[in-house]
Amino acid sequence: MSTPSPFPQAASHKPQASLGILGGGQLAQMLALAALPLGVRVLVLEPDPHAPARECAEVIQAPYTDPAGLERLCGCDAVTLEFENVPTLALAALEGRVPVRPGGELLERSKHRAREKLALHGAGAATAPFVVIEAAADLDGALERVGGRGVLKTCELGYDGKGQVRIGSQAELEGGWAALGHVPCVLEGWVSFGREVSLAVARNAGGELAFGGLIENVHQHGVLRTSLYLPGDPAEARARDLARRVAQDWQLEGLMTLEFFELPGGGGPGGELLVNEVAPRVHNSGHLTQDGGGLSQFEAQVRAALNWPLQDFAPLLPCAMVNILGWRQGQEPDWPGIYRLSGARLHLYGKAHQPGRKLGHVNLVAPDEGTLRRRLSELEALIPAFIP
Ligand code: AMP
Repeated sequence: MSTPSPFPQAASHKPQASLGILGGGQLAQMLALAALPLGVRVLVLEPDPHAPARECAEVIQAPYTDPAGLERLCGCDAVTLEFENVPTLALAALEGRVPVRPGGELLERSKHRAREKLALHGAGAATAPFVVIEAAADLDGALERVGGRGVLKTCELGYDGKGQVRIGSQAELEGGWAALGHVPCVLEGWVSFGREVSLAVARNAGGELAFGGLIENVHQHGVLRTSLYLPGDPAEARARDLARRVAQDWQLEGLMTLEFFELPGGGGPGGELLVNEVAPRVHNSGHLTQDGGGLSQFEAQVRAALNWPLQDFAPLLPCAMVNILGWRQGQEPDWPGIYRLSGARLHLYGKAHQPGRKLGHVNLVAPDEGTLRRRLSELEALIPAFIP
């Protein structure tokens, strides 16, 4: 017997479908906002009582491994997620009872940098050179093997530049590994990239694929500051091809985002693409799809998770996004300026202020590239950059 729907069904307003989400942060909030007009009810499992999704979804406030909470998720049509480190216990409790998209096998890869890189190579995608560091003996000769300069990253649990140390000498490598607690790491070769770009791919259980556009990203202190989408980027076809290969090879069900380093290519964009990392979900760089016209990345993930028909979700107009991080005194964004800037739309997540914390973003859309770039400069001046 299947588990009954977790939602009471009012005869006059029967939801078309229900979607469970593991995690209740801003990504879950925006997934739920995209699900609403589709008639999809969203049920979130999240331990934090103040998590952003509480405003627009039903939230079970419990640990991710809570048996009663997981039991309720089993009554949904499908379960998706907003973060990669879903406890194995939670996945085991859901397995065979409700489709989890992306599924456990893909998550085991994407949450572990070394496994992810090997699986990317298996799918025919290139990465920066790397060496796995698991024991002190692995440090010998590692730096030379990646080109003499690199970044040491923990295999698990790193994000937004956390769990990373830049390495330029053997002494720094030894000290860096100690600073990271001697946990399993990868030493990546330093990539002198021309640009950082990203592209999302959605795939439903029937194997239907859909793609987002190629988005250019600028990070500051390891955290995304600005994303830019211009139709017709010369690197888009190559990025789509790589995303297709990985999605098919990894049997993706759901949505994932590939972050790339583009190597300098003959003075203009279009050089070789190395995959930096894969997020098994919507991504900060894709927030501009909320306002660029067409389908958003959030609707694409909802549809793919439910095995609904898909369509490409590249924006229809030039657009950009600037993140709003918690500010220091005297550095608060110019809110009236943001409200008045033509084509700008503010998205706040309802999180408590804390310096450096992602609190929201502003999307900007314009009819042409010149107008977008001009207004983006104005927007960036209205949101002071956060200096850690
Ligand atoms: P990550 O958490 O791996 O996405 O790293 C955060 C940011 O650090 C990236 O977006 C890059 O700007 C920079 N970074 C990470 N790895 C490398 C690398 N191997 N070479 C050069 N820059 C890197």
